[in-house]
Amino acid sequence: MFKKILIANRGEIALRIQRACRELGIKAVMVYSEADRDAKYIRLADESVCIGPAASVHSYLNMPAIISAAEVTDAEAIHPGYGFLSENADFAERVEQSGFKFIGPSPESIRTMGDKVSAKQAMIKAGVPCVPGSEGRLPDDPIILKRIAKQVGYPVIIKAAGGGGGRGMRVVHTEAALVHAVQTTKAEAGAAFGNPEVYMEKFLQNPRHIEIQILADQHKNAVWLGERDCSMQRRHQKVIEEAPAPGIPRKLIERIGERCVTAVKKIGYRGAGTFEFLYENGEFYFIEMNTRVQVEHPVTEWITGIDIVRTQIMVAFGDKLPFAQRDIQLKGHSIECRINAEDPYKFTPSPGRITTWHTPGGPGVRVDSHIYANYYVPPNYDSMIGKIIVHGDTREQALARMRTALAETVVEGINTNIPLHRELMVDTKFMDGGTNIHYLEEWLSKRD
Ligand code: ADP
Repeated sequence: MFKKILIANRGEIALRIQRACRELGIKAVMVYSEADRDAKYIRLADESVCIGPAASVHSYLNMPAIISAAEVTDAEAIHPGYGFLSENADFAERVEQSGFKFIGPSPESIRTMGDKVSAKQAMIKAGVPCVPGSEGRLPDDPIILKRIAKQVGYPVIIKAAGGGGGRGMRVVHTEAALVHAVQTTKAEAGAAFGNPEVYMEKFLQNPRHIEIQILADQHKNAVWLGERDCSMQRRHQKVIEEAPAPGIPRKLIERIGERCVTAVKKIGYRGAGTFEFLYENGEFYFIEMNTRVQVEHPVTEWITGIDIVRTQIMVAFGDKLPFAQRDIQLKGHSIECRINAEDPYKFTPSPGRITTWHTPGGPGVRVDSHIYANYYVPPNYDSMIGKIIVHGDTREQALARMRTALAETVVEGINTNIPLHRELMVDTKFMDGGTNIHYLEEWLSKRD
């Protein structure tokens, strides 16, 4: 096994990976920006290296600084976590060229999946059903654009090929708005992702977001670990996730899970990955693949008993997957609430000093967070400060445990979205299960 790994990330996921390393007897090197210097997970690390100032472009996105940190500390591998450089094929390439293992898939897999147009083409080839839309990038010619949109059928959604994090998307309801929407999305995509290419999909009216977790090794073994329902979203960003997805026939999910495993083997994928689908009227439509560990991985860990981060490290080292598909049995129900430092209803970020931090506990409760009392939430990064995850034998028990966990949690000094989660956990529609991706925004607009 590796003796030392560098963790190229911050916050809760950096701590999550550090814990996996400890368990495996691997030394973890943490890198940090000046804004994260005093964080406890940095202080408690085996080794740590400052890689630059607060702004992520100069620190967590600074490839030369990260690679030289690995060089000076003699690390053998780099775990990118999620966000930042985790889905940057050039980074994966530079890591491997510098003689380190990249804990993730090959640069080629990242590159194919990172461009959503080529990802969809690869999936169509591998027999995975996709959302109908433009086959490929959109041209500039307004006449051709209008023809494509007419074929796809309004409403359509214009999406950036290189987009991520719920940004770079625009819904178009009428032909009159089409050309301008394409131009604007292109300009935004170029500025935000360095890639102005956009494509078109049919805008599904009330789908659910269902995703399949997969794990693969370099010896042609691959498994799928059930599904997650991440339909509770605001601005295309997930707020609550759960596994399994309530109310979808197992037969349908098994069929799509098997398709994903076939696709993984076909493209020679290695590591952890997620196939994201929209699910509407009994059909699954692929939207994108994430080639990294996801924020919501704990709900899958809980229903399968498999440690996804540990397995990522093992397969990156070259080990075989220590389990086969028949070993994967889903047990009980798990729910995750993302805790954000923000106003619970206006969503304005709320960085600052946390004065009180009391976390919940008891049977079936897991808290993944790097926070503690007197921690200063820096204004420079994503507002997520942790996750509360629960497990129960049934969905009802999981919901009850989440209600108790949220009631026990005390965070003072900053605003968080905990009040929103408390309301959603007693919302009758959410309690019934199966709400779609527009539910939360509609719920919020009615609440005003
Ligand atoms: P990102 O990479 O930015 O997360 P995705 O392609 O995964 O982008 O889409 C994120 C979310 O946007 C989806 O979960 C869904 O809520 C919404 N979305 C994306 N494509 C469509 C579509 N064709 N119809 C309806 N909603 C969509």
